[in-house]
Amino acid sequence: MIDTQQLSLAGQKTIHFCVATDLLFQQKEELPLHPNAMRFTAFNHQGSPLQSEVYYSIGGGFIVREADFGRSSTQEKAIPYAFTSAQTLFELCRQYQLSIAELMWANEQALMPSRDLAADLLKIANIMKDCVEKGCHAEGELPGGLHVRRRAPALYQQLKKREVSESSTLNHSFLWPTVYAMAVSEENAAGGRIVTAPTNGAAGIIPAVLTYFRRFHQDTTPQLIIDFLLTAGAIALLYKMNASISGAEVGCQGEVGVACSMAAGALTAVMGGSLEQIENAAEMAMEHHLGMTCDPVAGLVQIPCIERNGVAAEKAIKLAYLALLEDGKNKRVSLDKVIETMWATGSDMMSLYKETSLGGLAKSLAVNSPAC
Ligand code: SF4
Repeated sequence: MIDTQQLSLAGQKTIHFCVATDLLFQQKEELPLHPNAMRFTAFNHQGSPLQSEVYYSIGGGFIVREADFGRSSTQEKAIPYAFTSAQTLFELCRQYQLSIAELMWANEQALMPSRDLAADLLKIANIMKDCVEKGCHAEGELPGGLHVRRRAPALYQQLKKREVSESSTLNHSFLWPTVYAMAVSEENAAGGRIVTAPTNGAAGIIPAVLTYFRRFHQDTTPQLIIDFLLTAGAIALLYKMNASISGAEVGCQGEVGVACSMAAGALTAVMGGSLEQIENAAEMAMEHHLGMTCDPVAGLVQIPCIERNGVAAEKAIKLAYLALLEDGKNKRVSLDKVIETMWATGSDMMSLYKETSLGGLAKSLAVNSPAC
């Protein structure tokens, strides 16, 4: 689009479109319903507006038209194990002797009985695996004008070399999840195919931790991969229902922080952790992202997002192992409490630090938007 100055409208018609003059970032304007908003206006040849529509990106890949904001997009359906808090989730698991994954499975089946849930989840896992693989081998520069070089392929080669040559006392294998996550984040930044989990900006963490699990655990089975995704999904729901998974609403704690929490809890579950240990891993992963701002340089999901995904993936794995060393009982901070705190912290955060690219690193490294 930048090169051709053409915009295809649903493949039906092509119009002239210049990014510099037709795509305007109103960084000081905030629309009332959500900070992440986009107004589309169609003009006729005389420059008079024909139609205008506002859309909000509310996180997790959800896009809502202004007229539909706040309305449920689906009819409420009965599910066997309804929960809105971590405490209720864990109580239901205890009461019915279910794992989190089993409970989620039952709920998903009730929502869509005709769906082949196992096949769908394994398909998602394979898309995640493919984007790790692709990102580890795709060289070049990321689009957008920041001239960010893709680093994952060279890092991948470095790690492979060192794996062969290093002694067991000095090795870099702990960096694998970091490189996997960077690979996926680079794919995202390049417009490649990724899984929004929970958001595109934080899409590297779940695939990286899952790839780590598939590669370094001998006994990985399709069922464990399914359990990993269902457990991660349950944790994501808790954040979605009680806080936010949108950087524009609560800063990066709502994206990278949530992904880290999902991954830490899910990995703990598939490594045999108890409910208390799963809660503890998910809680710690958010606790140490509280207050993390969203400040993408030039509005591109590259700096600091790509490295940030890498660091969070490694952190999720460490916290899962840490949680498994303790029984997780009598912890002072519950998962519900940290979610509540994340929401309160995000609400207190200045809008400069919530995806506006006006504060933090985006301000320090301010560059002009690329022209067409
Ligand atoms: S800094 Fe902002 S855009 Fe980048 S990953 Fe975090 S929330 Fe997403």
